Amino acid sequence: MIKRSFFTLSQPGLNYDLVEPDPKEPKSIPIPPNLILLLNEPIDSTRQALIKKGDLVEKGAKLCLYNDSTEYTISPVNGTITAIDVYLNDFGNTSTSLVIKNDQAQTSSTDPATYDLKDEIISADQYLRTLPGAPPLKILAGDKIKIDTIVITCADQDLLSTTHQYVTLKFGDEIKEGAKILKKITHVPKLCIAIPEGLDIKEDFSLFQVFKTALRYPSNLPAMILKDHLKMILPAGKTPEDMGVCFMTAEAVVSLARSYTTKSANFEKILTIIGKQGTQYRVKATIGTPLNKIFKAFSILVNDQDRIVIGGPMRGFSTYTIHHPVQSDMDTVMIQDRDIIPEVSDYPCVNCGKCIRICPANVPVNILVRYLEADLYQEAADKYDLESCIECGLCAYVCTAKIPLFQYIRLGKHELLKLRAEV
Ligand code: SF4
Ligand code: SF4
Repeated sequence: MIKRSFFTLSQPGLNYDLVEPDPKEPKSIPIPPNLILLLNEPIDSTRQALIKKGDLVEKGAKLCLYNDSTEYTISPVNGTITAIDVYLNDFGNTSTSLVIKNDQAQTSSTDPATYDLKDEIISADQYLRTLPGAPPLKILAGDKIKIDTIVITCADQDLLSTTHQYVTLKFGDEIKEGAKILKKITHVPKLCIAIPEGLDIKEDFSLFQVFKTALRYPSNLPAMILKDHLKMILPAGKTPEDMGVCFMTAEAVVSLARSYTTKSANFEKILTIIGKQGTQYRVKATIGTPLNKIFKAFSILVNDQDRIVIGGPMRGFSTYTIHHPVQSDMDTVMIQDRDIIPEVSDYPCVNCGKCIRICPANVPVNILVRYLEADLYQEAADKYDLESCIECGLCAYVCTAKIPLFQYIRLGKHELLKLRAEV
């Protein structure tokens, strides 16, 4: 396998947005009558599930399909399960969706179930995996990988998003509190914090090793933080966790602090919404809220063939339903008008070389994509660095022929994993 080293970056330069110095409070979206929760485990029709349609659930109750399930979700309301269905994600993987009819008043004032939370990572992982910000507790609690560094990211990964910067400015004291809890429950020796250059932080973060990330995209991606600040090159096909480094969002750390204080879960997710004209809105919505409730709150009209993108403009993926729910790891949602959706063509590569020059991981994208188009995933990995890609999306952004390079690469990586699982 070729392992090309990082990094070069040529034009164009794209900069991250900085949150406004005294950010406005997010708009609160009322808890909807029905919430949709996604459970990362498929239903097995041959087995008797622990939950079924008609079951009453409490706010804070842990919901899983089977006694031996390792995946769970938490109900954000007192309610009734009204549907349990197969859910297909963007690559056709199956998981499960649950619809919970909200039986409580349209407020968050009902007290949630309390947990017997101990100062151990296993205990946190038992209840708090689905908190806003999606803390990577499963990784930290696992015994396969030894983590010796946690990087708390106050920098948003994609363009136009300011979710984590907002959380950092508003809840710096809870970040420090959450970090202390993290240290106590994980015993990880090194805690770092990544803060965008130019963000005016009042909080004293001297208990961390502070990394100031450059405003230029893609400086906030984990692979770039590893390289620029921890002087580690991410090998092809490896994750930061494989190198002993775990990334955790500022929002996840704040959620952890709140949960250890109240001994219960919290469900209010902060999101950046990017409207059709590029206007940015900040919202607070309960996990499970269908996105159409948010669009309605801002009078954003969604027409047929408009595109809803979960994530930002460089790395986001499309969803085809306005009922897609707010999830714990969802930081940004973008809506693009059908008339301005960047066109994708089926023109062939014109060998302009822009993708190669822009790629921070030096992937030979123009050749790689030919192998991916031909479904030759193993060859793409062995000879053309498929697994060196850090998923920044810059190649697709600059492509002269408007080839959906990033989508080909994501699909290629997914198919490669499937191929390996079959061996
Ligand atoms: S998305 Fe494209 S530009 Fe970015 S690292 Fe991957 S191949 Fe390179
Ligand atoms: S940018 Fe697009 S057209 Fe140009 S070499 Fe790369 S794949 Fe080919």
